Amino acid sequence: MDTMDKIVSLCKRRGFVFPGSEIYGGLQGFYDFGPLGVEMKNNLKSLWWNWMTREHDNVVGIDGAIITHPKVWDASGHVQSFVDPLVECKKCHHRFKADDLNKNACPDCGGLLTEPKMFNILVPTQIGVVEDDKTNVYLRGEACQTIYLDFKNVLNSSRLKIPFGICQIGKAFRNEVTPKNFLFRQREFEQWDLQWFCRPAEMEQWFEYWKAERMHWYKSIFTHPENLGFYEHEKLAHYAKKAFDIEYTASPFGKEIEGIHWRGDWDLSRHSKFSGQDLSYTDSETGEKFVPNIIETSGGVDRTFLFLMLDAYTEEKDRIILKLHPSIAPYKTAVFPLLANKPDLVHKARKVYEILKGSHQSSVVGSQLNIAWDDRGNIGKRYYSQDEIGTPYCVTIDFQTLEDSTVTVRDRDTAKQERVSISELKSYIVGKTVVPRKIERMPGA
Ligand code: ATP
Repeated sequence: MDTMDKIVSLCKRRGFVFPGSEIYGGLQGFYDFGPLGVEMKNNLKSLWWNWMTREHDNVVGIDGAIITHPKVWDASGHVQSFVDPLVECKKCHHRFKADDLNKNACPDCGGLLTEPKMFNILVPTQIGVVEDDKTNVYLRGEACQTIYLDFKNVLNSSRLKIPFGICQIGKAFRNEVTPKNFLFRQREFEQWDLQWFCRPAEMEQWFEYWKAERMHWYKSIFTHPENLGFYEHEKLAHYAKKAFDIEYTASPFGKEIEGIHWRGDWDLSRHSKFSGQDLSYTDSETGEKFVPNIIETSGGVDRTFLFLMLDAYTEEKDRIILKLHPSIAPYKTAVFPLLANKPDLVHKARKVYEILKGSHQSSVVGSQLNIAWDDRGNIGKRYYSQDEIGTPYCVTIDFQTLEDSTVTVRDRDTAKQERVSISELKSYIVGKTVVPRKIERMPGA
């Protein structure tokens, strides 16, 4: 079994990710996140969000609609450029991008292929309740478009001045020809985007700033940061001067996690033209009027999730360990009574569990840690079970705890144990869960 197969199986067995609509035989390119997966994905998204908006004063967020006016996709060029000539196998009906093939035979079964046909990768749907009077619309093919649509509204409703950024985390939908490699290429997925608006003359410095910042962020949460690298695109869109991908270089299939794109004034100019609205910016001090230029950082939440799993997966002699960064692990800590049949131990362990969860201080933001409780089987089995889902610390309440109010804390990666007093336990755990901070000063700051 290769690592990817092991990850897919672990994800299902332990409740990270399930195949979509599985009881009906599944639906290709769709997945559901299970109880542990949704915890990890939410941790990941809130780390991204906090880092983007709290660490960078002049970045704000929005949450835009999935369905937008159909003209948006004409203006963005997607209706045209998301149309790829495809061929279909007459035998197995799998479809392939015509450009990817150099033989007139199906790569999957050797069957004959049809002539290339045009397929639209945008996912169409209809709105309206009257059968003959419905409007054709698309589910958004990329999340970032709503940021351009809301640019003026954000500007007018805030005190932001250029340069500033708008970020968003949201779903995108693409009729991918061949969804594959688990979460890597799906038909419904999530993206995290930043659109950074600045003066044309400042594009160069801001491009370098965001390129370094985004790489720093990914490096701070991967188990093996050395597996991340840049790929520089040579073929560029006509408005772009540079384009880089942040890649997970150890991936056995596609490597792209995030694109850092120089978009110039393309997006705002196009939406100005198609909507008839003025989307330019006027400097309140100098009166200078211009169309802001944009740097985009656009990454995949699900791809990051998958690569983090691949990067963290470790097999040792007798155990599987997911060496996830503590800030993204589904559980921060697990609490066990040494013996489940000793009421004194269980009672004390329950107290420690409540303290760690922070139930008594729920009004304090960030105080509620996700803590696991386990009193089944023997302690060794409980450790292995937590190692496999990436829980960084296991706390055991034993007979010594009843005497001196200390517990053992076992470290997932080293399996080493140390005694910590209950009164210091929560700050001990929180202190080990260091979240990423920005390193780069902003240009001009
Ligand atoms: P690719 O070349 O792999 O199709 P892309 O260059 O079309 O990706 P973008 O349009 O730049 O991707 O989207 C930004 C990010 O969204 C990508 O870097 C990737 O992480 C994520 N993404 C794109 N398509 C998918 C998909 N089908 N499934 C999961 N994530 C995706």
